[in-house]
Amino acid sequence: MSSSSTVKDAENLRRSRILSSKLYFDAPLSKVPLIYSESYDISFLGVEKLHPFDSSKWGRICRFLISIGILHKNSIIEPLEASKDDLLVVHSESYLNSLKNSSRVAMIIEVPPVALFPNCLVQQKVLFPFRKQVGGTILAAKLARERGWAINVGGGFHHCSGENGGGFCAYADISLCIHFAFVRLDISRVMIVDLDAHQGNGHEMDFASDSRVYILDMYNPGIYPFDYEARRYIDQKVEVQSGTLTEEYLEKLDEALEVAGRRFDPELIVYNAGTDILDGDPLGRLKISPEGIALRDEKVFRFAREKNIPIVMLTSGGYMKSSARVIADSIVNLSKKCLIDTGKGSKAT
Ligand SMILES: [Zn+2]
Repeated sequence: MSSSSTVKDAENLRRSRILSSKLYFDAPLSKVPLIYSESYDISFLGVEKLHPFDSSKWGRICRFLISIGILHKNSIIEPLEASKDDLLVVHSESYLNSLKNSSRVAMIIEVPPVALFPNCLVQQKVLFPFRKQVGGTILAAKLARERGWAINVGGGFHHCSGENGGGFCAYADISLCIHFAFVRLDISRVMIVDLDAHQGNGHEMDFASDSRVYILDMYNPGIYPFDYEARRYIDQKVEVQSGTLTEEYLEKLDEALEVAGRRFDPELIVYNAGTDILDGDPLGRLKISPEGIALRDEKVFRFAREKNIPIVMLTSGGYMKSSARVIADSIVNLSKKCLIDTGKGSKAT
């Protein structure tokens, strides 16, 4: 068999997996394109407390939004879990098999004691919540196409590629979301705006020389993952050094979005909105204020709105105790500025 027919076979297989997936489903208009499931949140016999992460931030974001009356509990859309066939759209069989080894998962999520647990428990307590979040990211593109925007209150595992996990990221939800959108939404130009503090080496490796995907990555080069190979695949690189303050950060972002808008004309934007740029975050080492995060998100949503491009937002990194509140406040701000409509918020005076 020639190599070109092998590539074609692989492409056909990918296509048929995407077409037979159940992850794209119709949500009634009474629901808001805000995606979350209680099973996103990770609790692992207390072991989750050994990680510097707030592993229930996703639920806390929703509870904040509900408690202040901007979101009704019943308007949230619950995604399905990504199946093995769904994951095979991007991941290799051998990578997925490697997750059957608890030590491997412990390394990926950076919680060493997880290595001691039987894999069935690791699957149920860690990988299942992640697969639900992956289902949410994939569904978000469909909803964004229909409603203009969608927020997955989770996902954004930008360190994972088809062949490699790391940095708390076990599945490549961004790459999966984009491949599903190519086929199911029949689009061919996607822009990733990755504003998590870390470099998004996973999607960069996956779309290395794929001209259908334009990657704007604004990250701190002095922290994990130091992936110099993946850096070569960033279309627009904006490096922000440790200690960068809000004003300078937002100026750089304005400039970056202006350039991105001139260079590429996307049909979908995947916005990786990590909050580890927040002042005090031990991993991100930047000094952006909570108001700065809201302004950042507003700028990206405005960029999409002005060009009439559907936008998917993922919450990604940033797991300080304060992160959930900051994200909820930013979603409230987006609603106040009429950049999203959560059903209740826009009706409030
Ligand atoms: Zn990060």
